[in-house]
Amino acid sequence: MQTKLTPLIQKRPDSAEIERILRSCVHCGFCNATCPTYNVLGDELDGPRGRIYLLKQVFEGGDVSKATQSHLDRCLTCRACETTCPSGVRYGRLLDIGRGEVERQVPRSMRAKVVRFFVQRILPYRWRFKVLFSLAQRLRFLAPRSLRKKIPEVSMPSYCWPTTKHKRQVLLLEGCVQPALAPAINLKVATVLDKLAITPLKIKNEGCCGALSHHLAAHQQSTDFIKRNIDQWWPYVEAGIEAIVSTASGCGVMVKDYGDIMQYDAVYAEKARRIATLTCDISELLLAEAIPVSNIGQGASVAFHNPCTLQHGQKVVNAVETILQRQGYQLLEIDGAQDCCGSAGVYSFLQRAISQRLLTEKIFFLEVMKPDMIVTANVGCQTYLQSASTVPVTHWIDLL
Ligand code: SF4
Ligand code: SF4
Repeated sequence: MQTKLTPLIQKRPDSAEIERILRSCVHCGFCNATCPTYNVLGDELDGPRGRIYLLKQVFEGGDVSKATQSHLDRCLTCRACETTCPSGVRYGRLLDIGRGEVERQVPRSMRAKVVRFFVQRILPYRWRFKVLFSLAQRLRFLAPRSLRKKIPEVSMPSYCWPTTKHKRQVLLLEGCVQPALAPAINLKVATVLDKLAITPLKIKNEGCCGALSHHLAAHQQSTDFIKRNIDQWWPYVEAGIEAIVSTASGCGVMVKDYGDIMQYDAVYAEKARRIATLTCDISELLLAEAIPVSNIGQGASVAFHNPCTLQHGQKVVNAVETILQRQGYQLLEIDGAQDCCGSAGVYSFLQRAISQRLLTEKIFFLEVMKPDMIVTANVGCQTYLQSASTVPVTHWIDLL
């Protein structure tokens, strides 16, 4: 694709990267076939190829309007298009850069500004979210039945954080919403790691990974979160931790992208790259460990929803399935396994109609074989699937 970036865009440190990504697209349109929003809305501009055209216009000084912003807002950032694209177009990276530009050029309505303000001021802050969530739980009984399922009940963990010190150490990320919504996940992971003679370290007052702000084009806020994390984690890297382990694939993919996001920052680029390469999903780590084969699953049937952030973002496929099969679970084949459940961070909140349609389809395919349970690898997907499922939904680590 020929490109002619505006002089202003050419001055950006990432202009060569923008040009490279735009030029790598050959307009074949293969990506449209696996794009959830294209499949739901049937509009070329709500598919990856059309959005790349829109982004090209943004960078070349063409018309940028509210319509441009809406088409980009409707993208789930699921990156299924990247998995399908035969030319390796880095669509997600282009979209994130482009959203920032559009945000500068197209003002949002007052209502949208207020909603975004509260989302950005509450969700990425663990204690603010915890307070709000526990209030919602207390008032759950007052909510109409349809709404009650959307406020998940939290089962309190029965494990304690292991205290044995092993030679092998990893940093276990906590995230911002997971400690409130599903506190048992990391405790379970810590217990499993301890049994493998690996010490899970955690950081007190760990901040948000920055994903939520990054995808809302609040780039200053996300960069601040990233820098804070790098500063907090770096002493552990220097002390020789083996890995930075994520149990929520939405956070994991973001941290793995730190190297790309911070590549133009003279102070943080190198550290960000190192941190990104050290980061792994818990399934990657456990797959590499020699966990003894067992039959704890006793043939129970499991429908696994591999989150987009794990399968398309981190390119981790078949890790969870293999681990669970080795533990005696029967993994069911799921139609549309590559499709998004519609959760996508705050997408379910900001783009409710599309999101609900995707959720209904996903639940249909997950439940059609009548599994004993549905499992996933990201707290956002877990909570969202739970809100519509008739089958118990949990993090796959619960099955170990
Ligand atoms: S992003 Fe990839 S699959 Fe989509 S039109 Fe461009 S080259 Fe083709
Ligand atoms: S990221 Fe997902 S929703 Fe967005 S264009 Fe790609 S496939 Fe479509």
